Amino acid sequence: MLTSIHFLLTYTCTYKCDHCFLYCSPQAKGTFTISQLKQVLEEIKKIRSIDNVYFEGGKPFLFYPLMLEGIRMARAAGLQAGVVTNPYWATSKEDAAFS
Ligand code: SF4
Repeated sequence: MLTSIHFLLTYTCTYKCDHCFLYCSPQAKGTFTISQLKQVLEEIKKIRSIDNVYFEGGKPFLFYPLMLEGIRMARAAGLQAGVVTNPYWATSKEDAAFS
């Protein structure tokens, strides 16, 4: 049973890992729009077994307003929401603690 949807919000990433099966990199193009997120979330709401969505990529935090709006829309639809990231901004223990 399908319970979760993972958005590949963008193919743009801060890294270009050899093992990346999505070929993400700083040069990679392709990012969801808010309109596309709305359309997909409307379809997700029709599938009653889905109770959570994740936003990943690439690095979704590179498109912070888009990621935030996606999370807001998911929560408004009654879904749990999460993010998968490297997280490139956590360059100290203190910074990591805020993530
Ligand atoms: S998405 Fe993950 S695996 Fe792919 S290039 Fe970025 S950090 Fe590496």
